[in-house]
Amino acid sequence: MMDILEQDKALLWHPFTQAATAPPPLAIQSARGAYLYTYDGRRIIDAISSWWVTLHGHVHPAIANAIAAQAHTLEQVIFAGCTHAPAVELAAQLTKLLPPSLSRVFYSDNGSTAVEVALKLALQYFWNAGTPSRQRLIAFEGGYHGDTLGAMSAGRGSGFFAPFMGQMMTVDVLPIPTVGYDDLEAVEQRVLQAFANLPLENTAALIIEPLIQGAGGMRLHRPEFLNALMALARQAGVLVIFDEVMTGFYRTGKLFALHHLDHAPDMVCLSKGLTGGFLPMAVTVCTETIYTAFLDKNFDKAFAHGHSFTANPLGCAAALASLALTQQQQTTQAVQCIESCYRREWHALATHPRARNVRHLGTIAALDVAADESGYTATIGSHLKAFFLEHNCLIRPLGKVIYLMPPLCIQEEDVQRCISVVKAALDSLA
Ligand SMILES: *Cc1c(COP(=O)(O)O)cnc(C)c1O
Repeated sequence: MMDILEQDKALLWHPFTQAATAPPPLAIQSARGAYLYTYDGRRIIDAISSWWVTLHGHVHPAIANAIAAQAHTLEQVIFAGCTHAPAVELAAQLTKLLPPSLSRVFYSDNGSTAVEVALKLALQYFWNAGTPSRQRLIAFEGGYHGDTLGAMSAGRGSGFFAPFMGQMMTVDVLPIPTVGYDDLEAVEQRVLQAFANLPLENTAALIIEPLIQGAGGMRLHRPEFLNALMALARQAGVLVIFDEVMTGFYRTGKLFALHHLDHAPDMVCLSKGLTGGFLPMAVTVCTETIYTAFLDKNFDKAFAHGHSFTANPLGCAAALASLALTQQQQTTQAVQCIESCYRREWHALATHPRARNVRHLGTIAALDVAADESGYTATIGSHLKAFFLEHNCLIRPLGKVIYLMPPLCIQEEDVQRCISVVKAALDSLA
């Protein structure tokens, strides 16, 4: 095991990590269900679904078998000019589960690419339609959409991307009316007014993480606000993009966050849980109206975008197996079980002097630690993370926001265990 850590230190560069100060990584040998197993024999509860991807649990046999079978049949083929059954079948299944207006599926391979595709489709849609002046985008403070340049532009309000601010697309950033603050309805009205005052006739699209901002700190906004915002966007001819990369697949208690809302967006981005967390894969699903605007005798209007692994058959096979599991009654029961545990035990933390804004949405529970610092880099976060690991729970606070987002297969006693470890961590701050 020492050897792995030494070689890792010599060779590797980890994501979102300050290597100069970070503790050594956990060396994970295997995993099963909601547990990670280290080389030195520890069993750790994966309370964050390995960065929000693991859906039905690690090494789920149905998904592992589907990938293996597909690997022996067709592992990969160019998707320009070729097609295959897993890609067609997955598109059919997904569009059946989404609102009927979302009917065209464009494949890519991660959340950032799904967002890049959506942004580029929005810009080219208006270019193709002869209104190329619509080039601006609208996004939200605290919004996060990935780490490629377009996705960073949409997430410029996240606070993560200072070195790149000079190279970004034109994005108007609106405040987000966050549940848990006083006078919420007045704030919502101000944001809707601010939206109406933007140069909407030059705006192509609005992008939002519906109902909950993930990396921005598990911040909730009300469906009533989003419904009102979407109505305004529609009136102004601004396309609405839902980034459901994190919220998809029951994280918000319903299959997709859009199922909590009155109107369907014009595009939705899915990734993370799409393959159950087994393989990198993403889709951007859009309306037939958008698709049709790209049809022409000339190539000029086509969408000149594609990734080497577009619609990778292994990813499609994993996603089909994961979707089949998602549709079993067991899955909705698991979601309800997690939620009722949160209602009883997570919300009991509200009386803790160190806890603020104790909240949950679906299978995501969060609270803010009462402390002076704020932001992702708050040092309290690294103290808490170490405390959780000592207690064999993988929980990674976002700054001073502690959250749980376990795989749906987690046992109730393990949810309870995580909650009691969070309570102990708050006690340790005294
Ligand atoms: C994680 C995330 C992304 C980026 O996905 P990657 O696969 O990490 O590129 C985009 N949007 C949201 C809402 C996310 O949570």
